[in-house]
Amino acid sequence: MKRLFSPWRSEYIESFHQETEDKSCVFCKAAGETPEDKDSLVVLRGEFIFVLMNRYPYNNGHLLILPYRHISNLSDLNENERLEIFYLLELSIEALGKALKAQGHNIGTNLGKVAGAGIEDHLHFHIVPRWNGDTNFMPVLNDIKLISEEMSKTKSKLVSYFKGLNK
Ligand SMILES: [Zn+2]
Repeated sequence: MKRLFSPWRSEYIESFHQETEDKSCVFCKAAGETPEDKDSLVVLRGEFIFVLMNRYPYNNGHLLILPYRHISNLSDLNENERLEIFYLLELSIEALGKALKAQGHNIGTNLGKVAGAGIEDHLHFHIVPRWNGDTNFMPVLNDIKLISEEMSKTKSKLVSYFKGLNK
């Protein structure tokens, strides 16, 4: 039987929710940050929607597309947010392809705890870039130092790409 690949359902990816000591929303906190903030993983701020790197990525360049507003249902999105989510999904895929040479992508969202959502109150879409042979990446994630170095390199590549588009 062919197994459906859905990395955004991995508990590992969402596990950072339990690690935050206070119960405040990490996405609302990120919504107030900019790509220029050194410790921020925000790579692009749109008008209603922003693009954030996942702090515990399944793969290098794993992105989240999410509204600034703390809303949990697709039906809570207004028309502007709905349009910009799709626009930034497309733009992010382009950036991952051009800046990181991604060869494919998985896109998904978890709606509700029963579906595996870790941060169930703040709607977000995952984009996981894929490369041939990347299934070997997971063991590497155990090395925290390596991840943070790799992530800051990836962040600057993506931020440069997005900045280049605005010129
Ligand atoms: Zn929130």
